[in-house]
Amino acid sequence: MFWITALKDITLLSVKNEMQYRQSGLNNRMRKTIDTSRLRGELREQESMSRHTSWKTGGAADYFYSPVDIDDLSVFISAVPIEMPIIWVGFGSNLLVRDGGLSGVVLSVVGVLDNLEFTNGNEISIGAGVPCVKAARFAAKQGLGGIEFLAGIPGSIGGALAMNAGAYGGEIWRNINQVETINRRGERKIYAKDHFKIGYRSVSIPEEEWFTACKIDLEISDKSVVEKSIKTMLSERAEAQPLGQLSCGSVFRNPPKDHAARLIESCGLKGRNIGGACVSEKHANFIINMGDATSSDIEQLIELIQATVYEKHAVKLIPEVRVIGDSGRYQ
Ligand SMILES: Cc1cc2nc3c(=O)[nH]c(=O)nc-3n(C[C@H](O)[C@H](O)[C@H](O)COP(=O)(O)OP(=O)(O)OC[C@H]3O[C@@H](n4cnc5c(N)ncnc54)[C@H](O)[C@@H]3O)c2cc1C
Repeated sequence: MFWITALKDITLLSVKNEMQYRQSGLNNRMRKTIDTSRLRGELREQESMSRHTSWKTGGAADYFYSPVDIDDLSVFISAVPIEMPIIWVGFGSNLLVRDGGLSGVVLSVVGVLDNLEFTNGNEISIGAGVPCVKAARFAAKQGLGGIEFLAGIPGSIGGALAMNAGAYGGEIWRNINQVETINRRGERKIYAKDHFKIGYRSVSIPEEEWFTACKIDLEISDKSVVEKSIKTMLSERAEAQPLGQLSCGSVFRNPPKDHAARLIESCGLKGRNIGGACVSEKHANFIINMGDATSSDIEQLIELIQATVYEKHAVKLIPEVRVIGDSGRYQ
């Protein structure tokens, strides 16, 4: 069911934590009302997450909210009962949502927190909802380099910050000056880069706090040089990766001094499928949804790859993709 509830109160189920939220029977649930009268955004119920993930799989989220601006976002977050989980998504290009769906509220600021502007000399300010490619092209147009690699990453700036996205030796956090966040109480904060512990595809953001914007220092270069560098990176990607197919990019992190793709390929797993999920023939670290894959097919294939690589190489592959949700809630 799909409906917009900006005009009326909705009844939400409130319980102690996510586990209890899922397990408690209807009779045990305490009913609590969220006041939507101050909200200006769109709240949907039972929103299929296949609409919000690049694998195009996944069950429904109890609620899905898209605010109209940062103030509306703040009002909404503080209105969600504290027991109800809040999950942020960008473009879902690094997310596997299980078929049983998500308990709680999914929040998306894609296309909403979309400011992109010069703040000071060669520094740009970028909203969390801006597509990475747009940020890279904006910088290139001004002859500024340092984030060319973002042109090939099909995520949002918020998702890239959360993942410390990177490619071709670059990482988004390398050039960050400061970030803005919002917490579970709807409070907005500004932090310098050194507040965070940054690692390979990871960053230490406090629990229940999310990125809303960042300021990035860029390198003065020449427009044609930056644009050429983007073009080269994109054509190398097109050569090596199955870009026209439904995927989440690289499924596993590269182990130290090795490549997940090399290990997977050496086990003869290219082309191996479970249901509609298949290891790409073009790039062994990509799993493709051939059209009718479920999240369960993909997760089983992830586990099969891990077991096979471990058996042959004694290397434990760690997923880069974030797996969330419930496998059996609606089954
Ligand atoms: C074809 C393809 C190629 C790819 N190539 C690369 C690559 O070269 N390098 C690379 O690093 N990645 C790559 N990826 C993976 C993916 O695009 C990146 O990880 C991207 O940064 C994820 O952004 P997103 O907006 O899609 O985040 P989502 O997938 O929506 O979310 C990822 C995680 O970030 C969290 N999150 C999202 N927004 C916020 C926010 N505002 N604040 C806090 N947490 C948030 C989510 O809760 C989730 O845990 C590729 C993916 C595809 C499909």
